[in-house]
Amino acid sequence: MMKIRLNTSAEIKGTIQDIPVPDVVRIPIPKKLKPVVKKKQIVGCGQVIAEISSKGAYNLGFVHASIDGMVEDILPDALVIGPLPPPKEGEDAVTPTRPDPCTELDSLSGEELCRKLLELGVDTSKLHATRTLVINGLNPEPGIIISEQLLQNTVETLKAGVQLLERALKPGAITLVVAAGRNVTVHGCTTVNASDTYPATIDPLVIYAATGAEQPANVDIISVLDLYYVGRVAETKLPLTESIVSISGKTFRAPVGTAVQELLNAAGCTAKTDKKIALGGPMRGEAIFDLSIGISKNSKAVTLVEEGFFPPVQPNPCINCGECVLACPARIQPGMLSRFAEFKLVDDARKQHVEACLECGMCTFVCPANRPVLQYILLAKQLLAAQDAEVATCRLQD
Ligand code: SF4
Ligand code: SF4
Repeated sequence: MMKIRLNTSAEIKGTIQDIPVPDVVRIPIPKKLKPVVKKKQIVGCGQVIAEISSKGAYNLGFVHASIDGMVEDILPDALVIGPLPPPKEGEDAVTPTRPDPCTELDSLSGEELCRKLLELGVDTSKLHATRTLVINGLNPEPGIIISEQLLQNTVETLKAGVQLLERALKPGAITLVVAAGRNVTVHGCTTVNASDTYPATIDPLVIYAATGAEQPANVDIISVLDLYYVGRVAETKLPLTESIVSISGKTFRAPVGTAVQELLNAAGCTAKTDKKIALGGPMRGEAIFDLSIGISKNSKAVTLVEEGFFPPVQPNPCINCGECVLACPARIQPGMLSRFAEFKLVDDARKQHVEACLECGMCTFVCPANRPVLQYILLAKQLLAAQDAEVATCRLQD
């Protein structure tokens, strides 16, 4: 069975290609957000189409239309926007209303600026003032080249992103982590070289490489991709409506909600039956079966997995070989946790620190029994989260 190389660094040849604006987009709507538009409503690019219903000062969240058009459908997990209707006879064509550039962005700072960024579609909720900020400049997974592509081609946008975050967060220090041997800098950052071999590229291990500490209290991390998005908002002063996606060694910029099929067409890829398709990378991506699914800001990649490239996982019994334990960067016992999940012993999984799993997928990758180890662990996490949510809603009189 052929397996992929785990080095993530790659030679970047081309530049970022823009996908033509599609006629139809299917914009993913996260569960906690509610649509605020109706079917057949005309929307302008950048207009808010979904938001968190219970808005508190720090509980903002918005999704914006990524094209001008008409709301065609409201699905449980997405909103479909299609072309504008043709003008009626004797009437002018409808003109969708787009938001004006947010000029306040230049004068705001601190919390007010963080909240404005949230309104413009950039999630700053995991970043805190005055902490050390680590920028993860390593490509996230083997075959996904977005971080190095952005570092090579969008230096000014990344600089704009750093300058805006400096105003919003006043970080104590900013460290950029890039692959060993790479000589890259971004405005105001100290560069640190680190291993690019997966899973060393995932956030907790990048923080360790940058600071020498595990889970330090005063450190936040942001990916180069998210920094680029901050920079785009700083440059345009408009809501974020685009996504950067890596496909087959090329990088594309497309409106959020662009169908996977359109991206595959732009990349010149044909989705044959001997390939599986994942939204995301080969290690952490999710298999998809419907190519009309739209990409989100966090999709990062569309991966075509050749037949034979990955072992077909099955609910095979664990042979207790310990390979997954050796591969696990979180130093937990994936095999045992997967067996707890398999037999619905989720409380035992909690006692054995299932929450410490970094979701890197290495356990599934190395398992000689081809067990879906990570998938079992994710199941345990979901069941525990549901259990906790139920307990949290219990009232004393119940
Ligand atoms: S996905 Fe598997 S290998 Fe990775 S941290 Fe979780 S248990 Fe460990
Ligand atoms: S690698 Fe697979 S078979 Fe071996 S202990 Fe882990 S889960 Fe069990």
